[in-house]
Amino acid sequence: HAKERGRGQVQSFTPMLAERLADNSRLERELRDALGRGEFTFVFQPQLALASGRIAAVEALMRWHHPVDGLRAPGSFIPRAEESGIIHELGDWALEEFARRLAHWQRIGQQLGPQHGGIGRLAVNVSPRQIVRPDFFTRLRDALVRHDAPPALLELEITESMAMQCGDETLAELARLRAEGVTIAIDDFGTGYSNFARLKDLPIDRVKIDRSLTADIDRCAAARTIAQAVTGLVHGLGHEVVAEGVETAEQLAILRVIGCDLVQGYAIARPMPEQDFLDWMRGHALSHQPVSGALPG
Ligand code: C2E
Ligand code: MG
Ligand code: MG
Ligand code: MG
Repeated sequence: HAKERGRGQVQSFTPMLAERLADNSRLERELRDALGRGEFTFVFQPQLALASGRIAAVEALMRWHHPVDGLRAPGSFIPRAEESGIIHELGDWALEEFARRLAHWQRIGQQLGPQHGGIGRLAVNVSPRQIVRPDFFTRLRDALVRHDAPPALLELEITESMAMQCGDETLAELARLRAEGVTIAIDDFGTGYSNFARLKDLPIDRVKIDRSLTADIDRCAAARTIAQAVTGLVHGLGHEVVAEGVETAEQLAILRVIGCDLVQGYAIARPMPEQDFLDWMRGHALSHQPVSGALPG
């Protein structure tokens, strides 16, 4: 077919495609080596219940300690990992890490005593390529069982666009997982195409309002109106609302008025390496303060 499109196009198309394929396989090799050398890790960012100030959950965010580039954020490698298919190896590794930590952190929470509410759920991001794979759900269950990690403390974050495109098969799997105790959150809500007829049928527990919306609520009445309407809609469907990217005390105050359930963002805490997070968590659990307008310590 390429021939039919004319000479010039064939000549420019072929080297470009070849270059791209070479690029992808180079990155694939690089990512696989990095996985072998243990260069991937996670940082952790808490989500607080706005009313009580308790730690409701903590989100795991992937990082790559690149030997040359230093610390790399997921935006610079997850999309490429998805294209190359290495996302499955990375995802399997991540599932092990999540299950292992869940079990470990639950013990730490128990040591603190029930009055401190523990660490709450571990919220993890999964990619579209991962969850459409038929054995993803089996692998997830396997990891939880092997590490003796309670499913009720795991939360899957799936992006709005991913959720809207899920086939019936995947939705049924998600519903089954949810019946087993795993909670499900829609991530980055408000950035994609939202089909409300579809939203009402999703087997979910909470909706995360994207930070592009949160960022404007203290500067822009229209953004406030949207955040309020989304909160009403989500509550009406029986789910909780999480605001992500909360950076200022003023945003916190507005979210409280709006009736948002959970908050996450720099105003509470930045994503932290595991040990820093555990220290932060202990300090927070023991002081057990409600989220005030002021930045919590
Ligand atoms: P996300 O799940 O929406 O995560 C929130 C992003 O906002 C994180 O970026 C976080 O560091 C950042 N953030 C949190 N609070 C604030 C704030 O107050 N202000 C601002 N400006 N930013 C804030 P990060 O860590 O770069 O992650 C980017 C995206 O990469 C995530 O978006 C998620 O979609 C994806 N990702 C992260 N970890 C994983 C993973 O383990 N697997 C997969 N498949 N994707 C991941
Ligand atoms: Mg997320
Ligand atoms: Mg998000
Ligand atoms: Mg987001």
